[in-house]
Amino acid sequence: MIYLDNAATTFPKPPSVRREVDRCLRDYCGNPGRSAHALSLAAAEAIFDCRREAAELFGLPSPEQIIFTYNTTHALNMAIKGLLRRGDHVLISDMEHNAVYRPIWLLHAFGEITFDIYPTYPASPEADVEAILDGIRQRIRPNTRMLIASHVSNLCSAELPLTEIGALCRERGLLFVVDAAQSAGIADIDCGAMEIDALCAPGHKGLYGPQGSGILALRAGTVMATLLEGGSGVNSLDGAMPDFAPERYEAGTLATPAIAGLCAGIRFVRERGVGQIRAAEQMLYRRLREMLGNTKGVTLYAPEREGSTLLFNLDGIASTQAAAMLDKAGICLRAGFHCAPLGHRTLNTGDDGALRVGFSVFNRTTDLEALVRSVKEILRESHKN
Ligand code: PLP
Repeated sequence: MIYLDNAATTFPKPPSVRREVDRCLRDYCGNPGRSAHALSLAAAEAIFDCRREAAELFGLPSPEQIIFTYNTTHALNMAIKGLLRRGDHVLISDMEHNAVYRPIWLLHAFGEITFDIYPTYPASPEADVEAILDGIRQRIRPNTRMLIASHVSNLCSAELPLTEIGALCRERGLLFVVDAAQSAGIADIDCGAMEIDALCAPGHKGLYGPQGSGILALRAGTVMATLLEGGSGVNSLDGAMPDFAPERYEAGTLATPAIAGLCAGIRFVRERGVGQIRAAEQMLYRRLREMLGNTKGVTLYAPEREGSTLLFNLDGIASTQAAAMLDKAGICLRAGFHCAPLGHRTLNTGDDGALRVGFSVFNRTTDLEALVRSVKEILRESHKN
């Protein structure tokens, strides 16, 4: 079996991640923050270790600014609903995932907010920065309060210039929320230098943690409304949630085994180096682009953007049908619309969505060769009929 669906979730996980989840479940999985006995304290220590690793990875001075969530969507909903107020105007990019688009759409449908979409594509990667900033400037209104940017698209590998967008947000007093679902662990992210107010990241993709792990990294001093209220292990006699992070935002029992695994995943990434991981995945990207680009009947989308995901279609074959055929050949990848209607419109992929390959550090060029062999076989068979 060849797994090329790493943009959905990475698989397999590194041995160190599997070992740590197992160790947690066997040796120290008390309820962190609820009791003061040895197993509860051991679990709390493991959680703190993960906060520290994540804070260091994302350039945050204090581990308390790392809030654990269950996935990126959860983190984005917390930031969007916790920070916006009635009457606010929001800017989102034309590549946003439904994890951004749907909560924004719903708030808009309820008459709470208004929003506009700023263009990010197509411009050449070199021409992007000024064009993107101009597009944003033109759309800022007196009541614009937040800008959301999908750091790296989940369709193609288009990447937004966070440093420049962050500086503009700072200058214009906008809250800067970043969806790092496809970039955490693959691209350098420094919340301080990039002026990010809320970074939303999955644990289960490029950080190689288990599913059920996610991160919301908040700028120090930011206080949001809560999405959930309940037990936090502190101030138990108060009706109100604590007013400090992370306890204010972590209602209920945390996913300790997932967070313990995530800690091992972040260590794995930091040991390898984000830059090395990115370079290795770009190399795979270039190799696959070359092989598919030389295959008659294959359309590539945004091939000039080199990164960890490559989007393509096969002439005359719906992407979901092609994915089912590849699955039979033992190759896992995703087809259809990838929860990103805005991006599909931007890239003009047509009525059937597209096939997406997502790489991880565990893929080899032999995986790509097998994919291309199967693609050629599918095209040959379909053109016979
Ligand atoms: N944002 C982007 C760009 C994504 O690619 C994804 C998932 O694929 C999400 C958000 C949602 O991530 P999660 O599944 O962790 O909620």
